[in-house]
Amino acid sequence: MVSSEDSAQTTAYRHLGTDGRHLQLPPGKVVCIGKNYAAHALEMNSAPPDEPILFMKPTTAIVSMHRPLAIDAGLGEHHYEAEMTVLIGERLSRATIEQAETAVAGVGVGLDLTLRALQRHLKERRWPWEKCKAFDGSCVLSAFVPATEVADLQNIQIRFTLNGEIRQNSNTALMLFPVLELLVHISGFFTLMPGDVVMTGTPEGVGPLAPGDRLDAELVGLVRESTTVLDRLA
Ligand code: ZN
Repeated sequence: MVSSEDSAQTTAYRHLGTDGRHLQLPPGKVVCIGKNYAAHALEMNSAPPDEPILFMKPTTAIVSMHRPLAIDAGLGEHHYEAEMTVLIGERLSRATIEQAETAVAGVGVGLDLTLRALQRHLKERRWPWEKCKAFDGSCVLSAFVPATEVADLQNIQIRFTLNGEIRQNSNTALMLFPVLELLVHISGFFTLMPGDVVMTGTPEGVGPLAPGDRLDAELVGLVRESTTVLDRLA
């Protein structure tokens, strides 16, 4: 049995363009990058990595930033991580930089929601991260700006505001591994399909969310989305 609320949370998601139209690309897997900004690695008490750190979220993790975020406080503290997202428009396997560039259909802003206490517990045990990173609702996606409207993937200001206060404010110029290199690296392990999404890592300033919070996530000049946090069980 699937309740109407569950189906709204997990199956109704479709990729959206910033023009308000649904995109023809089917939502697929989400490949995420860990610690792609030195200042975030530092705030997590770790050194900047010398190769991209990859993990994944399934399609069922995706929700739209156009809806309120329903979090389950019973799972523990939910941290926001605002990230530039890349929507894949063409199949990529062992891609070249040129192929990666052609395959970028659009960019957006997303939240890589993370159960931080559970993550610490899993890290201590040297277990995989999936439970804290890939749970239902953990991948919150904005609408996507067409790639043709983006002048430079590595010069985009990314900003996250919580209850009117700026918490994250950085630029994709500060990524340790730039977007096209990430796509090449990822495609050496996982074939990227049209409709897949890559979350390119969070800058510094991550922190907890609570029911009642108002959020704004923005790629300055390209896309801005606002939502609120609700208690899923309330
Ligand atoms: Zn992240």
